[in-house]
Formats: sequence, C-alpha cells, structure tokens
Amino acid sequence: MKTIFVTGSNRGLGLEFVKQFESNGFKVIAACRNPRLADNLNSIKGNIEVVKLDINSGSDFENISTIYKNENIDILINNAGIIGLNKKMIGEINYEDWKNVFQTNVLGPTMIVEKLLSQIARSQKKLIVSISSKLGSIEENSGGGQYAYRASKAALNAVNKSLSIDLIDKGITSIVISPGWVKTDMGGQNADITVHDSVTQMRRLIESVTINDTGKFFNFDGDIIKW
Ligand code: NAP
Repeated sequence: MKTIFVTGSNRGLGLEFVKQFESNGFKVIAACRNPRLADNLNSIKGNIEVVKLDINSGSDFENISTIYKNENIDILINNAGIIGLNKKMIGEINYEDWKNVFQTNVLGPTMIVEKLLSQIARSQKKLIVSISSKLGSIEENSGGGQYAYRASKAALNAVNKSLSIDLIDKGITSIVISPGWVKTDMGGQNADITVHDSVTQMRRLIESVTINDTGKFFNFDGDIIKW
C-alpha cells in the first residue's frame, strides 16, 4: 500500500486530497496545525493518521521526523499555504506579512522536504508535489499586485526546480501544480471550480507523473504553465 503525506489537511484542497487518496487505497498521513479542532478531518473514516504539523514550527518538524522515522512516504503533498493580507498595490505592502507569507509558502515546504527526504527516497513512487499558483508565473502576470503571494509562489517554483535537479539521482520526482481558482476559504465562493473537481484532476495527474516530468510547472488539468 502506498503512503501519502498531506500538509494543511483540515480544510480546503488539503481535506479533499485526504478524502480522495484514502478512497483510492492510500494510507494517508494528514498533517494539520490543530488536530483536536479538525472536526471535518477527524470525521473521515479509513486509513488516515492525523498528526500535528504547523509548517512554521521547528518542534513540530522534529516530532514528525521522529514519529515517521521508519515510514516510507510515496507522495508528499506540500499543500499548506496562505495568501497574506491581500493588499494589492504598491504603497500598501506590509513587510511583516510578506515575511509570514514566505515562511509559510516557501521555507516551510522546503523544510518538510528536508525532514522527510529519506522516507520519500526509499518509497516506491518517490514524488514531491508542491501546490503553487498561476499567480507565481512571471510570464502570465498580466494583473500586477499580490506582491507577497506572487513572489512566494515564484520562489516555491524555483525551489522545485532545484529539487528536481538535486534529487534526480535518488529517483525522486518533484513537481509544482497550480490547482486553478478554487472555491475554498482562500479562493472564495466566486472561484471557477470546486475542490472536488480541482483535486480529482490533480489526483489523476499526480498518479500518472513519472521521473520524466520532474521539475515541471503543471496546471491542475495537466497543461504546462509558463514560468
Ligand atoms: P485554505 O482553504 O485557506 O486552506 C489553507 C490550509 O493551509 C489550511 O488547512 C490551513 O490550516 C493550512 N495552513 C496555513 N498555514 C499553515 C501553517 N503554518 N502550518 C500548517 N498548515 C497551515 O486554502 P486552499 O485554497 O485549500 O489552498 C491550498 C493551497 O492551494 C495553498 O498552498 C494555496 O496557496 C494554493 N492555491 C489555492 C488556490 C485557490 O483558488 N483556492 C489557487 C492557487 C493556489 P488552518 O486551518 O490551521 O489555518
């Protein structure tokens, strides 16, 4: 049985990843900041282990490394992320908020890769998936604004590219996927697609990628997004 580790799994896209991969026969390690308050996650039946992980907490990372020392992790989904204060224009930037956005969207996802690297390397699938955003594409930026969030997802894409080069000798595939504009707390109810549709298409993509895809920036539907 394959094992998948999902960050930010108590709501939104993360919760749907847990549901769909569990239904598809995976053992799911569902990481979230507050397991005791994660009612929707705790109510899902099946092969799911809920574990505490704030991706900005050094002590949580140490606990995760210890708990899962002997686990093989086939797929890591770096899903947890924040959009920040959402100030759009130059002159309104809050730099403390920018630091939080980078800590959560770039440093945290990189740290979890370092912590779980040997568990991923000895698994069958050996796949790292980081949930990026089209807003991180420099070529496709026609709207401006969103300084912290856009820059954080572009940085996450850069991290992914280096991982794909550095980890290829271990047989590890590392990709980034934009989930589309999705109806979640972050995306809002005017977004284009439901969590079910976004995750269904991302799950099919995730199950089909091979080492030949390493380093790529995918849209949820499998198209390639320009850097
Ligand atoms: P969401 O509904 O706001 O959920 C965000 C998740 O991330 C929550 O589970 C949240 O946990 C978790 N999280 C935030 N900070 C964390 C931290 N420090 N440690 C651990 N978990 C943390 O957002 P979503 O729409 O599902 O977004 C999931 C991913 O997709 C994000 O990376 C986002 O940037 C990306 N994305 C979303 C859209 C969209 O339209 N929705 C578009 C492009 C990209 P708490 O409940 O504890 O806060």
